Amino acid sequence: MNRYDVIIVGGGASGLSCALTLASSKGKFPWAEGRRYLVIDNDSSDLLKAMLNNAPGVKQGTLGRELIKHIIEQIKTYGNVDIVNDRVVFASGEKGNFVVETENERRFEGDYLVLATGFHEFNIEGLNVEVVPNPKAPRPGKIMIKTDENYRVRDGLYVAGLLAGFSSMFASAAGSGTQVACNIMEEWAGKPVVIHDVPEPKKS
Ligand SMILES: Cc1cc2nc3c(=O)[nH]c(=O)nc-3n(C[C@H](O)[C@H](O)[C@H](O)COP(=O)(O)OP(=O)(O)OC[C@H]3O[C@@H](n4cnc5c(N)ncnc54)[C@H](O)[C@@H]3O)c2cc1C
Repeated sequence: MNRYDVIIVGGGASGLSCALTLASSKGKFPWAEGRRYLVIDNDSSDLLKAMLNNAPGVKQGTLGRELIKHIIEQIKTYGNVDIVNDRVVFASGEKGNFVVETENERRFEGDYLVLATGFHEFNIEGLNVEVVPNPKAPRPGKIMIKTDENYRVRDGLYVAGLLAGFSSMFASAAGSGTQVACNIMEEWAGKPVVIHDVPEPKKS
């Protein structure tokens, strides 16, 4: 199936966190039922170079590549996310009707589009976004996309992670992806949404 509720371009810290939060709404709300999500990623996350000692909740010394694998395993438990290895070269459309094309000539359609491609460059054609210097980057030459205060470029088009101007720390980027997921779910629910799990009650 090539049609999704949300297409996320970029499967690093922010894109995967966005997908995990969206996926975890399954079974919790009527509006979440039957929704499907897509992550498209070309395997060049900054996390692949990292070893993490200061990411909250992550065992010290964890390699970034192990953390990516672990988050993907978490996502897969929900069964509502497809993850495709490819590079997006073109995207266009509006809320309810986005089209994304890859360098391997695959084509996907989505109601929402989330850009989470990091701060090194932005070379996806067709979207008419404003790319500006990233003031939070530790080195010059990094970029971000201008958004409103909800990380939205326009209706249906969101930006997450370093591309949205967050500091280059795993927790900042991951938190940004989660926030974008909550903003999209708020649109579906018509009110603020969080997904909190609690332990099963002990059987007496
Ligand atoms: C060497 C190094 C060490 C680090 N160490 C730490 C640390 O110790 N602690 C810490 O908190 N943070 C650390 N970080 C920072 C952390 O890795 C980043 O903050 C985080 O990965 C940023 O997340 P992101 O989702 O914005 O971008 P990324 O994780 O870089 O993800 C962007 C993703 O988009 C994909 N992509 C880009 N363009 C396209 C396209 N056109 N089509 C499809 N996919 C695309 C890329 O493949 C990539 O997977 C380190 C970073 C580096 C480089």
